Amino acid sequence: PITEITDLSSLLLRMLTQCQPLYSSGKVADYIPALAQVAPQQAAVAVATLDGKIFSAGAAQQNFSLQSISKIFGLVMAMNRLGDGLWQRVNMEPSGQPFNSIVQLEWEKGIPRNPVINAGAILVADVLVSHYSASKTAFLTFLRRLTGEEAIYADQQVYLSELEHGNRNAALAYLMKSFGNIEAGVPQVLEHYFHQCATAINCEQLARSLLFLANRGVQPHTNEQICSRRDAHRVNAILSTSGMYDQSGEFAFKVGLPAKSGVGGAIVAIVPQFGVITAWSPPLNRFGNSVVAMQLIQQLADELGLSLF
Ligand code: GLN
Repeated sequence: PITEITDLSSLLLRMLTQCQPLYSSGKVADYIPALAQVAPQQAAVAVATLDGKIFSAGAAQQNFSLQSISKIFGLVMAMNRLGDGLWQRVNMEPSGQPFNSIVQLEWEKGIPRNPVINAGAILVADVLVSHYSASKTAFLTFLRRLTGEEAIYADQQVYLSELEHGNRNAALAYLMKSFGNIEAGVPQVLEHYFHQCATAINCEQLARSLLFLANRGVQPHTNEQICSRRDAHRVNAILSTSGMYDQSGEFAFKVGLPAKSGVGGAIVAIVPQFGVITAWSPPLNRFGNSVVAMQLIQQLADELGLSLF
Protein backbone atom coordinates (compact mmCIF):
# COMPACT_ATOMS: atom_id res chain seq x y z
CA PRO A 1 0.00 0.00 0.00
CA ILE A 2 2.89 2.41 0.68
CA THR A 3 4.12 2.50 -2.88
CA GLU A 4 0.68 3.56 -4.12
CA ILE A 5 0.94 6.78 -2.12
CA THR A 6 2.67 9.32 -4.29
CA ASP A 7 1.97 12.37 -2.15
CA LEU A 8 1.93 11.90 1.57
CA SER A 9 1.95 15.62 2.27
CA SER A 10 -1.82 16.09 2.47
CA LEU A 11 -2.16 13.12 4.83
CA LEU A 12 0.60 14.54 7.05
CA LEU A 13 -1.06 17.95 7.15
CA ARG A 14 -4.44 16.46 8.07
CA MET A 15 -2.87 14.42 10.88
CA LEU A 16 -1.00 17.44 12.21
CA THR A 17 -4.17 19.50 12.41
CA GLN A 18 -6.00 16.72 14.21
CA CYS A 19 -3.24 16.38 16.81
CA GLN A 20 -3.28 19.96 17.99
CA PRO A 21 -5.69 19.49 20.94
CA LEU A 22 -3.06 17.14 22.43
CA TYR A 23 -0.49 19.90 23.09
CA SER A 24 -1.96 20.52 26.52
CA SER A 25 -1.77 16.89 27.66
CA GLY A 26 2.04 16.99 27.88
CA LYS A 27 4.68 19.11 29.56
CA VAL A 28 7.88 20.53 28.07
CA ALA A 29 11.07 19.11 29.68
CA ASP A 30 12.20 21.50 32.40
CA TYR A 31 14.94 19.56 34.20
CA ILE A 32 17.22 21.03 31.53
CA PRO A 33 16.39 24.76 31.93
CA ALA A 34 17.33 25.68 28.34
CA LEU A 35 14.69 23.23 27.04
CA ALA A 36 12.00 24.74 29.27
CA GLN A 37 12.20 27.91 27.17
CA VAL A 38 10.98 26.20 24.00
CA ALA A 39 7.43 27.20 22.98
CA PRO A 40 5.16 24.18 23.53
CA GLN A 41 2.60 24.65 20.76
CA GLN A 42 4.75 23.55 17.85
CA ALA A 43 4.76 20.38 15.78
CA ALA A 44 6.22 18.89 12.64
CA VAL A 45 6.31 15.59 10.83
CA ALA A 46 8.54 14.40 7.99
CA VAL A 47 8.89 11.21 6.00
CA ALA A 48 12.07 10.47 4.03
CA THR A 49 11.91 7.55 1.61
CA LEU A 50 14.71 5.36 0.30
CA ASP A 51 14.06 6.60 -3.23
CA GLY A 52 15.01 10.14 -2.22
CA LYS A 53 11.66 11.79 -1.54
CA ILE A 54 10.83 13.95 1.46
CA PHE A 55 7.26 14.67 2.57
CA SER A 56 6.59 16.99 5.47
CA ALA A 57 4.07 19.15 7.28
CA GLY A 58 4.31 21.78 10.01
CA ALA A 59 7.59 23.25 11.23
CA ALA A 60 9.69 20.57 9.54
CA GLN A 61 12.65 22.91 9.04
CA GLN A 62 12.59 24.31 12.55
CA ASN A 63 15.54 23.23 14.71
CA PHE A 64 15.03 21.33 17.95
CA SER A 65 17.35 19.65 20.44
CA LEU A 66 18.33 16.13 19.34
CA GLN A 67 18.78 14.92 22.93
CA SER A 68 18.50 11.14 23.33
CA ILE A 69 18.11 10.52 19.62
CA SER A 70 21.85 11.31 19.51
CA LYS A 71 22.29 7.93 21.21
CA ILE A 72 21.65 6.21 17.86
CA PHE A 73 24.50 8.03 16.12
CA GLY A 74 26.90 7.54 19.04
CA LEU A 75 26.06 3.83 19.11
CA VAL A 76 26.72 3.36 15.39
CA MET A 77 30.07 5.16 15.73
CA ALA A 78 31.05 3.02 18.72
CA MET A 79 30.01 -0.23 16.99
CA ASN A 80 32.12 0.73 14.00
CA ARG A 81 35.13 1.51 16.18
CA LEU A 82 34.99 -1.23 18.80
CA GLY A 83 33.28 -4.14 17.04
CA ASP A 84 31.82 -6.90 19.21
CA GLY A 85 33.93 -5.85 22.21
CA LEU A 86 31.29 -3.19 22.87
CA TRP A 87 28.83 -5.86 24.02
CA GLN A 88 31.08 -6.84 26.90
CA ARG A 89 30.59 -3.39 28.36
CA VAL A 90 26.91 -2.76 27.66
CA ASN A 91 23.96 -5.14 27.53
CA MET A 92 21.10 -5.35 24.99
CA GLU A 93 18.09 -5.89 27.23
CA PRO A 94 15.11 -3.58 27.74
CA SER A 95 15.32 -1.88 31.11
CA GLY A 96 11.65 -1.30 31.94
CA GLN A 97 12.88 1.69 33.94
CA PRO A 98 12.94 5.45 33.31
CA PHE A 99 15.68 6.67 30.94
CA ASN A 100 17.86 8.07 33.71
CA SER A 101 17.41 5.23 36.22
CA ILE A 102 20.43 4.23 38.34
CA VAL A 103 19.17 1.17 40.30
CA GLN A 104 19.94 -1.57 37.76
CA LEU A 105 23.41 -0.18 37.23
CA GLU A 106 24.38 -1.17 40.75
CA TRP A 107 22.77 -4.61 40.57
CA GLU A 108 24.49 -5.29 37.28
CA LYS A 109 27.94 -4.10 38.40
CA GLY A 110 28.26 -1.05 36.19
CA ILE A 111 27.08 -2.74 32.96
CA PRO A 112 24.18 -0.68 31.54
CA ARG A 113 21.06 -2.61 30.48
CA ASN A 114 21.24 -1.22 26.93
CA PRO A 115 23.00 1.55 24.95
CA VAL A 116 19.96 3.83 24.60
CA ILE A 117 19.19 4.56 28.24
CA ASN A 118 21.35 7.33 29.72
CA ALA A 119 23.81 4.97 31.46
CA GLY A 120 24.37 3.07 28.20
CA ALA A 121 24.79 6.22 26.16
CA ILE A 122 27.32 7.58 28.66
CA LEU A 123 29.22 4.30 28.33
CA VAL A 124 29.15 4.74 24.54
CA ALA A 125 30.37 8.33 25.00
CA ASP A 126 33.34 6.90 26.93
CA VAL A 127 34.14 4.61 23.98
CA LEU A 128 34.06 7.61 21.63
CA VAL A 129 36.16 9.82 23.89
CA SER A 130 38.71 7.00 24.28
CA HIS A 131 38.87 6.09 20.59
CA TYR A 132 38.75 9.46 18.84
CA SER A 133 41.26 12.24 19.33
CA ALA A 134 38.40 14.77 19.00
CA SER A 135 35.15 12.90 19.66
CA LYS A 136 32.84 15.93 19.70
CA THR A 137 34.04 17.01 16.27
CA ALA A 138 33.87 13.42 15.02
CA PHE A 139 30.24 13.24 16.14
CA LEU A 140 29.29 16.44 14.30
CA THR A 141 31.24 15.36 11.23
CA PHE A 142 29.32 12.06 11.21
CA LEU A 143 25.97 13.88 11.35
CA ARG A 144 27.00 16.32 8.66
CA ARG A 145 28.01 13.40 6.45
CA LEU A 146 24.67 11.64 7.03
CA THR A 147 22.53 14.71 6.41
CA GLY A 148 24.73 16.21 3.72
CA GLU A 149 24.45 19.51 5.59
CA GLU A 150 27.41 21.40 6.98
CA ALA A 151 25.09 23.59 9.05
CA ILE A 152 24.47 20.97 11.78
CA TYR A 153 25.85 22.32 15.08
CA ALA A 154 25.73 21.85 18.85
CA ASP A 155 23.66 24.49 20.65
CA GLN A 156 25.97 26.03 23.26
CA GLN A 157 23.15 27.25 25.48
CA VAL A 158 21.59 23.78 25.73
CA TYR A 159 25.02 22.22 26.22
CA LEU A 160 25.93 24.54 29.12
CA SER A 161 22.50 24.12 30.67
CA GLU A 162 22.86 20.33 30.70
CA LEU A 163 26.39 20.55 32.01
CA GLU A 164 25.22 22.71 34.88
CA HIS A 165 22.22 20.52 35.72
CA GLY A 166 23.67 17.12 34.90
CA ASN A 167 24.08 15.68 38.39
CA ARG A 168 22.04 12.56 37.67
CA ASN A 169 24.12 11.76 34.58
CA ALA A 170 27.31 12.47 36.55
CA ALA A 171 26.13 9.97 39.18
CA LEU A 172 25.59 7.32 36.49
CA ALA A 173 29.06 7.96 35.05
CA TYR A 174 30.83 7.86 38.42
CA LEU A 175 29.03 4.66 39.42
CA MET A 176 30.18 3.00 36.19
CA LYS A 177 33.69 4.37 36.76
CA SER A 178 33.71 2.83 40.26
CA PHE A 179 33.05 -0.57 38.63
CA GLY A 180 35.90 0.02 36.15
CA ASN A 181 33.57 0.34 33.14
CA ILE A 182 34.54 3.93 32.20
CA GLU A 183 38.05 4.38 30.80
CA ALA A 184 38.40 8.14 30.32
CA GLY A 185 37.90 10.88 32.89
CA VAL A 186 34.24 11.33 33.86
CA PRO A 187 34.16 15.12 33.15
CA GLN A 188 35.42 14.52 29.61
CA VAL A 189 32.88 11.75 29.01
CA LEU A 190 30.00 13.92 30.26
CA GLU A 191 31.18 16.81 28.12
CA HIS A 192 30.96 14.61 25.04
CA TYR A 193 27.56 13.20 26.04
CA PHE A 194 25.99 16.62 26.69
CA HIS A 195 27.52 17.97 23.54
CA GLN A 196 25.95 15.29 21.35
CA CYS A 197 22.58 15.70 23.13
CA ALA A 198 22.71 19.46 22.40
CA THR A 199 22.87 18.95 18.61
CA ALA A 200 20.38 21.21 16.81
CA ILE A 201 18.57 19.54 13.91
CA ASN A 202 15.20 19.62 12.14
CA CYS A 203 12.69 16.92 11.19
CA GLU A 204 13.67 16.72 7.53
CA GLN A 205 17.40 16.50 8.26
CA LEU A 206 16.87 13.88 10.96
CA ALA A 207 14.68 11.71 8.74
CA ARG A 208 17.24 11.77 5.95
CA SER A 209 20.18 11.11 8.27
CA LEU A 210 18.87 7.73 9.43
CA LEU A 211 17.83 6.22 6.11
CA PHE A 212 20.75 3.79 6.29
CA LEU A 213 19.00 1.97 9.12
CA ALA A 214 16.05 1.28 6.82
CA ASN A 215 18.43 0.18 4.05
CA ARG A 216 20.71 -2.47 5.60
CA GLY A 217 23.40 0.02 6.54
CA VAL A 218 23.71 1.83 3.19
CA GLN A 219 22.89 5.55 2.98
CA PRO A 220 20.79 5.65 -0.19
CA HIS A 221 21.60 9.18 -1.42
CA THR A 222 25.37 8.60 -1.32
CA ASN A 223 25.48 4.80 -1.61
CA GLU A 224 27.87 4.81 1.32
CA GLN A 225 28.00 1.82 3.69
CA ILE A 226 27.55 3.55 7.08
CA CYS A 227 27.52 0.36 9.13
CA SER A 228 27.35 -3.34 8.36
CA ARG A 229 24.04 -4.96 7.51
CA ARG A 230 24.32 -6.93 10.75
CA ASP A 231 24.83 -3.78 12.82
CA ALA A 232 21.88 -2.02 11.14
CA HIS A 233 19.76 -5.02 12.14
CA ARG A 234 21.14 -4.89 15.69
CA VAL A 235 20.48 -1.17 16.14
CA ASN A 236 16.91 -1.64 14.91
CA ALA A 237 16.45 -4.55 17.32
CA ILE A 238 17.62 -2.40 20.24
CA LEU A 239 15.40 0.49 19.17
CA SER A 240 12.41 -1.87 18.94
CA THR A 241 12.87 -3.18 22.46
CA SER A 242 14.29 -0.12 24.26
CA GLY A 243 14.09 3.05 22.16
CA MET A 244 11.01 4.44 23.89
CA TYR A 245 12.27 3.64 27.41
CA ASP A 246 9.64 2.19 29.73
CA GLN A 247 7.00 2.83 27.09
CA SER A 248 8.77 0.59 24.53
CA GLY A 249 6.29 -2.25 25.02
CA GLU A 250 3.31 0.02 24.45
CA PHE A 251 4.99 1.55 21.39
CA ALA A 252 5.65 -1.91 19.89
CA PHE A 253 2.05 -2.82 20.65
CA LYS A 254 0.56 0.30 19.07
CA VAL A 255 3.08 1.16 16.32
CA GLY A 256 5.42 -1.78 15.72
CA LEU A 257 8.51 0.03 14.42
CA PRO A 258 12.08 0.55 15.73
CA ALA A 259 11.98 4.05 17.23
CA LYS A 260 13.83 6.50 19.45
CA SER A 261 12.61 9.50 21.40
CA GLY A 262 14.38 12.46 22.96
CA VAL A 263 13.32 14.99 25.60
CA GLY A 264 13.63 17.73 22.96
CA GLY A 265 10.26 16.35 21.79
CA ALA A 266 11.30 14.43 18.68
CA ILE A 267 10.67 10.79 17.83
CA VAL A 268 12.19 8.93 14.91
CA ALA A 269 10.80 5.65 13.57
CA ILE A 270 12.58 3.37 11.10
CA VAL A 271 10.49 1.64 8.43
CA PRO A 272 12.77 -1.05 6.96
CA GLN A 273 12.90 -1.09 3.16
CA PHE A 274 10.81 2.08 3.00
CA GLY A 275 12.24 5.05 4.87
CA VAL A 276 12.24 7.04 8.09
CA ILE A 277 9.49 8.97 9.88
CA THR A 278 10.32 11.83 12.23
CA ALA A 279 7.88 13.82 14.31
CA TRP A 280 8.50 16.65 16.74
CA SER A 281 6.49 18.54 19.33
CA PRO A 282 7.92 19.67 22.70
CA PRO A 283 5.30 18.60 25.33
CA LEU A 284 6.23 15.21 26.84
CA ASN A 285 4.32 12.49 28.67
CA ARG A 286 5.50 11.01 31.97
CA PHE A 287 7.92 8.67 30.17
CA GLY A 288 9.72 11.62 28.54
CA ASN A 289 8.20 10.86 25.11
CA SER A 290 6.47 13.57 23.03
CA VAL A 291 2.68 13.24 23.20
CA VAL A 292 1.97 14.69 19.75
CA ALA A 293 4.93 12.99 18.03
CA MET A 294 3.78 9.61 19.38
CA GLN A 295 0.26 10.23 18.11
CA LEU A 296 1.51 11.34 14.68
CA ILE A 297 3.71 8.28 14.23
CA GLN A 298 1.06 5.93 15.55
CA GLN A 299 -1.57 7.31 13.20
CA LEU A 300 0.73 7.26 10.18
CA ALA A 301 1.85 3.69 10.89
CA ASP A 302 -1.77 2.72 11.27
CA GLU A 303 -3.02 4.41 8.09
CA LEU A 304 -0.16 3.05 5.97
CA GLY A 305 -0.05 -0.38 7.63
CA LEU A 306 3.62 -0.07 8.59
CA SER A 307 3.86 -2.29 11.69
CA LEU A 308 6.57 -4.92 11.38
CA PHE A 309 4.52 -7.30 13.43
N1 GLN B 1 20.32 14.87 27.65
C1 GLN B 1 19.19 14.21 28.25
C2 GLN B 1 19.57 13.61 29.58
O1 GLN B 1 20.65 13.17 29.70
C3 GLN B 1 18.68 13.17 27.31
C4 GLN B 1 17.49 12.44 27.85
C5 GLN B 1 16.46 12.12 26.82
O2 GLN B 1 16.37 12.73 25.77
N2 GLN B 1 15.62 11.18 27.16
O3 GLN B 1 18.82 13.59 30.51
